[in-house]
Amino acid sequence: MPYFDHNATTPLLPEAREAWLRASDEAWANPSSPYRLSARAHRLLDTARERVAAHLGVAPGEIVFTAGATEANNAVIRWAAQVIPAGACAVVSATEHPSVLAPAREVFGARLVELPVAPDGRCELQRLDAAAAGFVAVMAANNETGVLGPVDDIDARCRASGAWYLCDASQWIGRLPARGLAPHAFVVGCAHKFGGPKGAGILRVPPAARAAGFRAQRGGEQEGGLRAGTENYAAIASMVAALEWTGAQAASIESRVAWRSRFIENVSRGVPGIVVNSGDAPCLWNTVSLRMPAHDNTRWVVRLDKLGFEVSTGSACATGSSAPSHVLAAMGLTAAEARRTARISSGWETTERDWQLLAEAIANVWAQLEAEGAGGNVVRI
Ligand code: PLP
Repeated sequence: MPYFDHNATTPLLPEAREAWLRASDEAWANPSSPYRLSARAHRLLDTARERVAAHLGVAPGEIVFTAGATEANNAVIRWAAQVIPAGACAVVSATEHPSVLAPAREVFGARLVELPVAPDGRCELQRLDAAAAGFVAVMAANNETGVLGPVDDIDARCRASGAWYLCDASQWIGRLPARGLAPHAFVVGCAHKFGGPKGAGILRVPPAARAAGFRAQRGGEQEGGLRAGTENYAAIASMVAALEWTGAQAASIESRVAWRSRFIENVSRGVPGIVVNSGDAPCLWNTVSLRMPAHDNTRWVVRLDKLGFEVSTGSACATGSSAPSHVLAAMGLTAAEARRTARISSGWETTERDWQLLAEAIANVWAQLEAEGAGGNVVRI
């Protein structure tokens, strides 16, 4: 049945599963041990690094394998807090993922400036005074709305002023071409968003940061000294297989953009008053943040689940929290509007037909909920 929550996580691609199994059998040795079995694992790790570097268009030595995006974001922010000049501020977009916002609030305290966004979720770049900032974090693509960040522009401004730039590209890498993305920045990717395994990620460390002493973790010389800890080669091999597979699908992106637009047209016809929270802002081809005209989003999610469609009320890391989404609040939505919002995110295996069926299912749920009366809080299924 169509799964529409790929921004939370994706199913493991067959190519990634195969690579994981092969690596687990053939290259399980510790890549840092002093015998031939390990030398082979080390060589394979080097090849994996070269392949990721080629995907991003950077040198292999700039790629650090991590256990995911949360680790990488925390590491960069904690390091930046130690190295930026005492008088400099840190500028972080108000719609960043919590793995950026939470550590930034903790380590920068009063030095943190949260960059506002426009009602369509676009970053208000004119408010970015890169010159006053020692550190900037603006994500490449938002996990709740799919809105794309002005990454190259920010990269250029930070380069000119000497600010460190953290570009969380967890929702971009594996979905859109990433060669040359934010060429002077720390760039973060996350395997389980693009058909790779959980617990594997990429951190691109710009050469200037290495020269300035960046270390993601201490306690070992793995990853060229940049991240201590035994590398999980099976997960890395699996991630690289997924990354290359997604790269080979790039020719279909144009069609996928059209499927998303057609879905928005269909669903707007089926449910009068429905709103796409990102308006006309440039977005990922896979994501739609839909504000329903009525009824709590949990009711929509439960009904759609019963019909065989997994969609989300928002970011998976906020599930269980009663607070409305900070992303939607930053875009100016009221708490009530945020609670009527559902996040829909497709994947590479999603077909045009799946999008059509989802639009029909949403119209059906709307008809059911309306027939039952707008006031009821009891979910009847
Ligand atoms: N950054 C963004 C934009 C995300 O969407 C996510 C995943 O939800 C993360 C960071 C955290 O990724 P991970 O699960 O690899 O720690």
